[in-house]
Amino acid sequence: NGLGLHRSTRAEIDLDAFRHNVRILRQTLKPGVRLMAVVKADAYGHGALPCAGAAMEAGADVLGVGIIAEGLELRRCGVEAPIHVLIGILPDEIDDLLHHNLSTTLCTRPLAEALAKRAAALNQSADIHIKVDTGMGRLGVSWEELPAFLEFIRGLKTLNVCSVFTHLSSADEDADYTHRQLQRMDQALQSLHQRGLPCPPVHCDNSAGLLNFPESQHDMVRLGIALYGVTPPALPEQPARTVPTLRSVMHWKTRVLRINPLPANSYLSYGRRFVTERDSRIAVLPVGYADGLSRSLSGNMDVLVGGRRAPQVGAICMDMCLVDVTDLPPVQEGDEVVLFGRQGEAAITVEEMSARDDTIPYETLCSVGKRVPRVYI
Ligand code: PLP
Repeated sequence: NGLGLHRSTRAEIDLDAFRHNVRILRQTLKPGVRLMAVVKADAYGHGALPCAGAAMEAGADVLGVGIIAEGLELRRCGVEAPIHVLIGILPDEIDDLLHHNLSTTLCTRPLAEALAKRAAALNQSADIHIKVDTGMGRLGVSWEELPAFLEFIRGLKTLNVCSVFTHLSSADEDADYTHRQLQRMDQALQSLHQRGLPCPPVHCDNSAGLLNFPESQHDMVRLGIALYGVTPPALPEQPARTVPTLRSVMHWKTRVLRINPLPANSYLSYGRRFVTERDSRIAVLPVGYADGLSRSLSGNMDVLVGGRRAPQVGAICMDMCLVDVTDLPPVQEGDEVVLFGRQGEAAITVEEMSARDDTIPYETLCSVGKRVPRVYI
């Protein structure tokens, strides 16, 4: 984004770690099972284009984007791999889809008819993936209606059904509910069989689905968070699982802007939320909520400086935040600071930051702002 050379705050993206995660997760798949690398939301904040390239190099078969604009951007940058638009499209996006050889999720009859008609007019076919709602309550035809929907789709000759799929809502939390979703999908597939309808390739698993329910791989898995080095939690019922060791991909770093020696009883930052109890050395960091450092972490996070932890103090500001380095060996202006990632033997994980912020690693990663240059190492 042009700030790279001018900004001490940066997100280092370790593409080797990313490729390692793709390869090692690939090795957990049964023969013939395909891998979709989900690179939506700018690859969960890591940069869609570099991650798309690295994923394909490391053996992914398909790329998953959230919205059509993300697919168009990858095509504009020359990516030729198959790209699936996961949330689907609106009718006015049909031409973009067809012109740029993207495939879409589809689960409504009017859109199917409009897409088929336009594809026919252009003498083309359209690749579609039928989404089945087995209990997420978001997108998809109900699992009970899949056979009727598929029969309807088969009547639209320019639509090419690439797969039927469902999305698991709680594969990192609830084994019973996940089993119920998988059973509903099985029932839907069986009813296709009973009606003599051919069954397209099937996929159900996200990262937690693959790691906590390895038997549910079907024909493809759609992996996001695990590729970025976050291991979804094990289920309480299944604490003993074998999962590959994933490597963190993003390391969020900055440098000390200034060291402020402050006497005891000094108030810090907006709202005077923190007062020094002793003579203190306070490091000012050039990173704030405009960079995606959540203001609700104020006073509730650590950073690493010189391989040691230091507490963040006072309200996080738009462009800066403050860290108490009084207990650390002397810290200099310009010293490297890690917000999450590794420094020497010490590490702060994105899981730790997200838990302290009462959110999930997905949101913490996606929130690292545009103003933070991504530097590929
Ligand atoms: N499939 C769909 C339809 C999704 O929306 C997502 C992301 O939310 C994924 C797969 C990847 O999920 P995860 O990042 O948990 O692996």
